[in-house]
Formats: sequence, C-alpha cells, structure tokens
Amino acid sequence: MLREQLETLAVLQGIDLEVKEHKTARTERLDEIERYEGEIARLAAEVKRLKEAWEDKDGLRKAKEQTISDASRKTTDKRMRMSQIKSIKELQALQREIGAIKESNVIVEEELIEVLTDLEAQEGILKQKEDELTALRNDWNEKKGPLQEQIAEFDRQIDQTREARDATASRLSDDLMGKYELLFDRRDGTAVVAVSSAICQACYMNIPPQLWNDVLRNERVNLCPSCQRILFYNPPAPEQEGQP
Ligand SMILES: [Zn+2]
Repeated sequence: MLREQLETLAVLQGIDLEVKEHKTARTERLDEIERYEGEIARLAAEVKRLKEAWEDKDGLRKAKEQTISDASRKTTDKRMRMSQIKSIKELQALQREIGAIKESNVIVEEELIEVLTDLEAQEGILKQKEDELTALRNDWNEKKGPLQEQIAEFDRQIDQTREARDATASRLSDDLMGKYELLFDRRDGTAVVAVSSAICQACYMNIPPQLWNDVLRNERVNLCPSCQRILFYNPPAPEQEGQP
C-alpha cells in the first residue's frame, strides 16, 4: 500500500519536474521580452531627449541668424540715411552706430559658429542613436513572435499536464502530499528518491543499515538522514540484475 503510494509519488514528481522545467523556460522567455522592451524604451527615451536638445539648439541657431539679419538690415537703413545727412556731427554719430552694430554682429557670428558646430555634433550622436534604435526594433520584431509562440506552447503543455497531475495527486494521502510539496519546493524539485542500493541517489550519502532495512520493507515513510528526502525502494529492473 505504502509502496504503491511512493511509486505514485515518484510519478507525480516526474510530472511536477516537467511542469517546473516548462515554467522556468517560460519565465526565461518572459524575462527576455522584458529585457528587450526595457532596452528599447531606454533607447527611445534617449533619442527623444537628444532630439529635444537638438531642437533647442536649432531654436538658438534661428535666433542668432535672426539677430544677424536684423542687424544687417539696420546697417543698410543707416547707410541709406547717410545720403540725407546735413552735418558732419550727424554723420559721425551715424558711423558710430554702424560701427557698434558691426561689432556686436561679429560677436553674434562667432556665437553662431559655435552653435552650428554643436548642432553638427549633436546631429551625429542623434543619428547614431536613432540607427541603434531602428536596428534594435527590427531585431525585436523578428524575435518577439517566436518568443511569444514559445510561451504559448509552454502554457499549453503546462495545461495539458494539469489533468494527469490532478489524477495522480488524488491517489495520494493528504499527509504524504503535504510532506512531498514542502520537500519539492525546499529540495529543488527532488522530494522523493528511488533507491536500489543503500546510497541516496539525491545526495549520494550512504544509508545506515537499520534505515536501509526499513526502506526495503517500504512500511513507513523513510527520510534520507543527510538530505531529508523521501526514500523509496525501487528494485533494480531484471535486465540490470547481475550487473556491477
Ligand atoms: Zn539524501
């Protein structure tokens, strides 16, 4: 009776291990999706930031160009007024005004050159990041579909196993199920160990003779003294008999 229970438990463990593997693989795919989408979002935010900085700088360029063109129009106006000048004093005043405009224009022109140099550098970086983003998005468009299909396939497999798992679990006592589930979580998916000789097949420690006798009888639930897993005796298959 107990022997049957332990064998059923081993079957359940096989099912649970399969589910566990599928769940792990599913989580890995989900993590990969998250990583990709996070990287795309990060890069898209960087492109947006660079673009805004470029637009600000381009606004500054337009303002400087406007200042220069306003100044040159003012200079032209003043030069035209020169023909109507009546006195030397007036002429000198006008020349001073033109000189002052020219001087400030030189400064603005130098500033404009600086702005244009910055714009060119910013454009280079922006273009590079935009290309990176496009490449990443293209790459992701190719990978996303297959990854999502894999996740759906794992879900389908997990669903399929559920019925067999429930049927198997229903044949086990609540007490044994409780022990098993606790161990399955704590012992990384190996709660019950089939042994055919006095060595635990999970931790490879020797099973003491008295305990080994108990295991052979399969009359009660025996735990490995070193790893605490459930031991159950599984006689070697006939074709394996006689082998060392
Ligand atoms: Zn052990």
